[in-house]
Amino acid sequence: MTVTDAPTGHLRTGRPAAGHWHPAQALHEADPQLADLLAAEAERRAESLQLLAGENLTSQAVLSALGGPLIDKYAEGYPGRRHHTGCALADAAELIAVDRARALFAAPHANVQPRSATSAMLAAYAALLRPGDVVLSMSLEHGGHLSCGSRANFSGRWFEFVGYGVREDDGLVDLDQVRELARRHRPKAIVAGGISHPRHLDWAAFRAIADEVDAYLIASVAQTTGLVAGGAAPSPVPYADVTVAATHKLLRGPRGGLLLCTADLADRVDRAVFPFTQGGAAMNEVAGKAVAFAEAATPEYRQYVLRTVEGARTLAAGLAGAGLRPMTGGTDTHLVTADVSPLGLSGAEAERRCAAAGLMLGRCALPYDPAPATETSGIRLGTGTVTTQGMGPGELGEIAALIGRLLAGGPQAAIGARVRELARAFAGG
Ligand SMILES: *Cc1c(COP(=O)(O)O)cnc(C)c1O
Repeated sequence: MTVTDAPTGHLRTGRPAAGHWHPAQALHEADPQLADLLAAEAERRAESLQLLAGENLTSQAVLSALGGPLIDKYAEGYPGRRHHTGCALADAAELIAVDRARALFAAPHANVQPRSATSAMLAAYAALLRPGDVVLSMSLEHGGHLSCGSRANFSGRWFEFVGYGVREDDGLVDLDQVRELARRHRPKAIVAGGISHPRHLDWAAFRAIADEVDAYLIASVAQTTGLVAGGAAPSPVPYADVTVAATHKLLRGPRGGLLLCTADLADRVDRAVFPFTQGGAAMNEVAGKAVAFAEAATPEYRQYVLRTVEGARTLAAGLAGAGLRPMTGGTDTHLVTADVSPLGLSGAEAERRCAAAGLMLGRCALPYDPAPATETSGIRLGTGTVTTQGMGPGELGEIAALIGRLLAGGPQAAIGARVRELARAFAGG
């Protein structure tokens, strides 16, 4: 497919219009400095390719809910149990969001109030653990999130983390090691999931290990929430005691967190969110989440996630063809993590070169990475945004080739010009 016959408007609620953001007149008049800055950011996005794994394009419908009147509503507590008056309509919006989340993920209980996936993790721990408890999670060096035991984060300060990893030969999670560590350390909770592992996890196996040592199982799936919603990844919900999800990233809703859990844990999870870790929920975000859940329940969204994975597979194969080494040999998800050291580069240098040509991706420490954490040996990419914009395997094959040429020392100006052309053709509008 050439860029001129790119599909536009194929998503019922899609907003492939990165380059066409205009500040509302009110902002322009009140604060031209900020209005201009935001317009320039929209332009920057329209001129470059967004391959950061956690980013996406939020739909106009979600943006409208985010900017709507619930932004001003104080509604501490839960529907029917608020600490403020005038909450009937806020209650209705939250109940819709909760019902839609429960239906979308087939979950007995949903809490839609966490402001971020990290604060949702904090609430999940608060619901299940006491300070000092032992938690077994994917180690940070192998792709665990900061909320899985970083000393710079509450998790590493308040709990005793033990880390499992992936095997050096195939890059897959070593379930024998998980079981062995669980038997040895008797954790109170096991966390499954991470930020850069590109393969599906075996939820049943994690559940069996957790049961064997009488631990809670927390599924940390912020990265792949959209794949689960769209049926492109196995759902942890039937297996995990608590599932921590993100409503941005692939789900394309407001930046925020979502907790799903068993009926037994519903009260504990709700109290862990409010009043333990948060005050009043952002009711405009709750409304925006409701819209995103409805969008994610459509056949168009299902097609979107399947296409996102297909694009990532093409990207991984293309990068392998260009001499990079995709971790685990490929991907089951929207994520590709690849070793750039065969090209004689660090991840940081690859990131710099790509950014200079408009290819926005992130350096990434690989499992067993010999390079310092600031340099790394890898890059991480995701196909969420470009797929929302309508790109498919054809474009992703070309993007892989462009990255390969650039990292092999190809001409930055010519490659950058082609990147801009592609980006503009899919900026929508
Ligand atoms: C993105 C991500 C987070 C952090 O999400 P925030 O909303 O930025 O706090 C946490 N855990 C995992 C697994 C993630 O992918």
